[in-house]
Amino acid sequence: MDESVLDDISHRRYNPLRDNWILVSPHRTKRPWLGQQETQGKNTLPDYDPECYLCPGNKRSGGAQNPDFKNTFVFVNDFSAVKEEQADYDPPQSDASFLVVLGLLQCQVAIEAGANAESYRRIDKTSLLLKAEGVKGKCYVVCFSPAHNKTLADMSIPEISTIVGTWQSLYRDVQSNTPFRSIQIFENKGAAMGCSNPHPHCQAWTTSHLPEEPAAELKNMMEYQQAHGSCMLCDYLAVELEKRERIVAENDAWVAVCPWWAFWPFETLVLSKRCIKTILELESDKDRELFADIISTIAIKYDNLFETQFPYSMGIHQAPLRGTDEEHAANHVHLHFLPPLLRSATVKKFQVGYELLAEPQRDITPEQAARRLQGLGAELYRKKLEGGS
Ligand SMILES: [Zn+2]
Ligand SMILES: [Zn+2]
Ligand SMILES: [Zn+2]
Repeated sequence: MDESVLDDISHRRYNPLRDNWILVSPHRTKRPWLGQQETQGKNTLPDYDPECYLCPGNKRSGGAQNPDFKNTFVFVNDFSAVKEEQADYDPPQSDASFLVVLGLLQCQVAIEAGANAESYRRIDKTSLLLKAEGVKGKCYVVCFSPAHNKTLADMSIPEISTIVGTWQSLYRDVQSNTPFRSIQIFENKGAAMGCSNPHPHCQAWTTSHLPEEPAAELKNMMEYQQAHGSCMLCDYLAVELEKRERIVAENDAWVAVCPWWAFWPFETLVLSKRCIKTILELESDKDRELFADIISTIAIKYDNLFETQFPYSMGIHQAPLRGTDEEHAANHVHLHFLPPLLRSATVKKFQVGYELLAEPQRDITPEQAARRLQGLGAELYRKKLEGGS
């Protein structure tokens, strides 16, 4: 199959993970522009900030004091999005057969009473249209480092491996000690992503339900497995490794691609070469190092792209803490890096207009984006600047 014609024509690409389509308009960028680089120069943030609620020894607004941690540090978010203990919410009975019986009874009563049946019908439709369910959970913050001014791009492989180990401990801990169904580990980096504190950290939200994004992906992966007898992401990885058109970085255990269906200009999908279901399967130090290595490579490439502290949202998708055997089997550990920058440190892609009301759209193709990222050096631009001074 030759897809080269797609370089010139407007087209849609299918995302099998989400079962949705992306409009691609490559003709709007006749050739990949180089973009403007606005070098931020050296890191001017201090190593320790007395005002930062994540720095070691500092007081948080909830009153607790951070310990003098040396590597990573995990605590329960003082302003969690979900509550661990709360009143149960029993949604109104909306079982269809129950409603029919109830409806008939009420109807009968109503007709016998000579009244209009309209009022009971309205009650049924309300429970059909105004649905809600209670959610319980617990939100954690994971500090990556005691150093206020480091990012994943600045950290060594052993430092990132320690973070991977912390993610594993947290997954294991909440799986054993809480009743929750799901954990979403994610990092918001940079003010462009609404992250106000530069101290390197991520969050992990555990919830009693499986949230929308992983739930939709899991549903599609399960349907794929059922229809084709194989793992969707293993099959996708094999296609990408054969074509080698969208690969950004690769090591012995991981491959990072700008996915065929990428929405964000420089979005990447990081896939494990082994079909592992959760990060707990990264059992050896070497496994954790290779995971750390691909994360470091992507973080450095992103910063080098526009010589800036590249903002993104990153998250790990994996099998839920609790689920069926089928759900576990259909999973395949992967990371999404979703960065908003388009062609410089300041020009951001917005999801507005047609994209909110009709369909997501992009200009440069994922192949062009992959080539840009692939061509970038493995040394962080800031380190070069520091070395040269
Ligand atoms: Zn700090
Ligand atoms: Zn797989
Ligand atoms: Zn995913």
